[in-house]
Amino acid sequence: MIKFLDLQKINAQYAAELKQAAAEVIDSGWYLQGERLKQFETNLANYIGVEHAVGVANGLDALRLILKAYIAIGVMHEGDEVIVPANTYIATILAITDNRLKPVLVEPDINTYNLDISLIEQHITARTRAIMVVHLYGRICWNEQLLEVAEKYNLKIIEDNAQAIGAGFDTSEFLKKSGNLGAAAGHSFYPGKNLGALGDSGAVTTNDSELAFTVRAIANYGSTKKYINDYQGLNSRLDEIQAAFLDVKLKYIDLENKRRHEIASAYIEKIKNPAIILPFGPGKFPAGSSHVFHLFVIRTAQRDKLQEYLTVKGIQTLIHYPIPPHKQAAYKNFNGLSLPVTEKIHNEVLSLPISPVMTDDEVSQVIDALNTY
Ligand SMILES: *Cc1c(COP(=O)(O)O)cnc(C)c1O
Repeated sequence: MIKFLDLQKINAQYAAELKQAAAEVIDSGWYLQGERLKQFETNLANYIGVEHAVGVANGLDALRLILKAYIAIGVMHEGDEVIVPANTYIATILAITDNRLKPVLVEPDINTYNLDISLIEQHITARTRAIMVVHLYGRICWNEQLLEVAEKYNLKIIEDNAQAIGAGFDTSEFLKKSGNLGAAAGHSFYPGKNLGALGDSGAVTTNDSELAFTVRAIANYGSTKKYINDYQGLNSRLDEIQAAFLDVKLKYIDLENKRRHEIASAYIEKIKNPAIILPFGPGKFPAGSSHVFHLFVIRTAQRDKLQEYLTVKGIQTLIHYPIPPHKQAAYKNFNGLSLPVTEKIHNEVLSLPISPVMTDDEVSQVIDALNTY
């Protein structure tokens, strides 16, 4: 069987280093807020190209904490609006509503699956404070127009970089990595993400010192000094053992993303079936690092039938995501919204297996199965 994502195989590549890292943490007797975390934060900040990286408990918390810190600093207030793509993983929206801010759901571009930047301006009101972009499936959501509209209305751009670590935007002079494009970014190191821990963890990256300081304090009970509490905080910290694992895996992220890109190129080039819509259309393969292919997502009108066919062929696929946030019971107040592009995407998408440990033979099997469908 071709697994959608073989986590065991991914981590087996680094088993010796991971076991060594775990042994060192166990033997150190120090399990939180120590040297391992500091080291990883430094390495992550260098990798992304930012001044500050703050390790936190998970990706949802990274986004929650950015908004909580902006509220603490006075940049945002309860009831303010945050523009966000309607077709995202629900965590993006949860981070907003958890802070009693209002998500303003905007339709994506059907070709990129990312927020349709041309629709942002018409959704801006006097209460809009931020645009939360999601680099969905690993593809950069960024352009000059986004920057212009944010500057014009004095909005913070916050990146949900849970799916796109290692991706970059070519500014014509240099490559700027995701996580360093906006005012702040939330990262997830959930095991299945491109940079996956062996448990939960996440990080905030930013060049804003005040924001970094505030996020760090709020993530540690709101404390800047032991037993001195400046904020009503949370406990959202990244363990030493996960930091040590992440430091091992960070060294290989570019290699792993490169293999994902190779597989995606093969899919784009060789899958030829009129019933299947490939991402971004023929001849429009995203260049360089503008896409790190966390997921390879196709569309088809007969999604369930295709998934069943692939299952019979021994090919595991998943749906990202079957129900959009505005149709969830958790968001009854949004259930009546009409977001046809978002709904179409959720009804038609199917994610093919893609991972750095897939073999060429497995890639060919997926291509053949889709071409004989
Ligand atoms: C995974 C994910 C999150 C949440 O990260 P966790 O570490 O699972 O909390 C947020 N946004 C997006 C787009 C994600 O894919």
